Amino acid sequence: MHKPQTKQCNGCSVEKPLTHFYGDKTQKDGHMRKCKECQRTYDQQRAGTLRRKARLATKDANRNHAGTLSFYDVAFVISD
Ligand SMILES: [Zn+2]
Repeated sequence: MHKPQTKQCNGCSVEKPLTHFYGDKTQKDGHMRKCKECQRTYDQQRAGTLRRKARLATKDANRNHAGTLSFYDVAFVISD
């Protein structure tokens, strides 16, 4: 039996088997720097930020009486 390859996570600093990391072809070892768990947390935080931004944009549109914000306006804001 081979010892499973491990890698230290850039997020939680825990050494975990490579199966705990998502693949990333842009990385030298073919895996992301953060483990799946940390990546998920990061993605959730990011999604929260994007939702907040979209909400702010909607509020602005209402305040300025600019009419209804279209899907494309929101997409433009959150693509930032
Ligand atoms: Zn981690």
